[in-house]
Amino acid sequence: MHGTPANLEQQLAELNQQYLRRLQQEIPQLQWLLLQFIQAGPLEWREQAAVLVLRFHTLAGSAGTFGLAGVGTVAKSIEKHVKALLSQQQVPAREEHALLQQYFVEMQQAAGQPTAQSFSKAKPQRQDKTDARILLLCHDPLISQPMGQTLKTFGHQVERFVDLTQLVASARLDPPDVIIVDLDALDDSTAAFALLSNLQCPQAQPIPLFVLSSQDEFSHYLQAVRAGVIGYFVKPLNPATLEARLQRLLSVRERDAFRVLIVDDDMLLAQHYALVLQNAGLRAEILTDPAEIFQGLRRFHPDVILLDVNMPECSGPELAQTVRLQDEWLGVPIIYLSSETDSERQMASLIKAGDDFLTKPISDNALVVAIFARAQRARQLAEVMTKDSLTGLLQHAHIKERLGAELERAARLQQNVSVAMLDIDHFKKVNDVYGHLTGDQVISSLANLLRQQLRKTDLIGRYGGEEFLLVLPECQLDKACQVVNQLREAFARIPFVSNGQTFHCTLSAGVTSGSDSQQVDVVVEHADQALYQAKGAGRNQVILYQPPVPVLNE
Ligand code: GH3
Ligand code: MG
Ligand code: MG
Repeated sequence: MHGTPANLEQQLAELNQQYLRRLQQEIPQLQWLLLQFIQAGPLEWREQAAVLVLRFHTLAGSAGTFGLAGVGTVAKSIEKHVKALLSQQQVPAREEHALLQQYFVEMQQAAGQPTAQSFSKAKPQRQDKTDARILLLCHDPLISQPMGQTLKTFGHQVERFVDLTQLVASARLDPPDVIIVDLDALDDSTAAFALLSNLQCPQAQPIPLFVLSSQDEFSHYLQAVRAGVIGYFVKPLNPATLEARLQRLLSVRERDAFRVLIVDDDMLLAQHYALVLQNAGLRAEILTDPAEIFQGLRRFHPDVILLDVNMPECSGPELAQTVRLQDEWLGVPIIYLSSETDSERQMASLIKAGDDFLTKPISDNALVVAIFARAQRARQLAEVMTKDSLTGLLQHAHIKERLGAELERAARLQQNVSVAMLDIDHFKKVNDVYGHLTGDQVISSLANLLRQQLRKTDLIGRYGGEEFLLVLPECQLDKACQVVNQLREAFARIPFVSNGQTFHCTLSAGVTSGSDSQQVDVVVEHADQALYQAKGAGRNQVILYQPPVPVLNE
């Protein structure tokens, strides 16, 4: 049955309305992507720019169709502008960003959106550090002082309160990342919990709530859980335990999005999948030329490969087999996207190196669910296989492997990579005096500190028991020494508590330039020699590797 013209007009108008509603939902995402691009470091900006080009290209293509020509024109300008930036070698200058922001505001206006939500007000994305704003209620200086000290060392910002009503009022005005309440500071815990639950109601996401308590009984735990508490610490409080828990909380929230590499010779279809996945919060990159597969893998490090079965130059199964030729990519699941209906042929190609099948056409939702589940599983497996269980850092073999890749990259791009070896001083004594468990806590605190203070692009490995290897890409030697020195000072400030006794630890470090040699073992040996010197010179210091002066024979 066909609709009457009047009916059709109405349907079109409805479609336009639908489109407008969707666009208005999409605008905050676009703004977020634009911010990501503006704040991206030299290693990531190209990737972010490519996402922008794709998104604004699609928008430019569709907005006009749905009666929003103004939006389409501005979207086109943004696409063109970012494309022009991409064709340049260097990182875009600030002025370029200002122009982009100006375009974006125009686009918001064209889409009939209020533009009050300006860029300066948009909550800045955390880039490299996972620092938190913490509201603390505690009356006991013996607890709050070492705790405040530790949290500050880790870069967090602590605001102390003596009155719960004031704390709640402050949290309501500007929701913090965490609230910590000492239950012993309260007269009436039931009333206090009621007040805290009241605070949570209007929040889009509840504010994480930790409590400290001298009560170690099931009924207290239960009461706390019912009030929405997600961390319960029995006194005496070990600040390092609290910090570890805090970091787990923050890292879950800031977890990197899953990465999907889409290989499909049909660009439009690939773009569609990419958009669907990006809308669901995943990151997607498109490859239309199978010959570029290894560059794509190395550049993007995908969690999942989504592979078209029928491509002109090389079939999906052939490409999957090619990927599996290198051990490095054995762990990345390959999911075929096939329009084949013949299931026997599907099976035959599945056996050749793939992991799963999705059949085209596939609903957007089914695609997201299937990819998400695979990516999550693959990420978990990779973590277990490459990360050390006590610290969550890269294991010995894996940090060396990554160092090798960084040395190669630095040589290729003629950049500096700095390398440091850290070792905790007199660590045997810590084990002897305070026990192995406390020793473990010291190791994991140092790991947390490293993760906290270094950039996302830096690599951190647990090289040995209490030895850590740091790889700092695009970092000059003097900067590296400065960073490692700051780490050394911060570590020395952390108070550790064992059996009611407080103690401090120090570390020594050797720093070297990875750019002087292409060989992993040589670079590690240099860092180790400098570390050895630091130990010999009295420990608690950072020493730069000095190449031996050649002895001239007459
Ligand atoms: P130096 O200042 O010269 O580095 O002195 P040190 O005592 O730290 O030296 P050494 O490297 O000889 O001792 C390291 C000790 O670390 C030995 C080992 O028992 C302990 N250790 C290694 N791995 C772990 C671990 O995972 N947990 C704990 N608690 N101790 C560990
Ligand atoms: Mg040591
Ligand atoms: Mg050692």
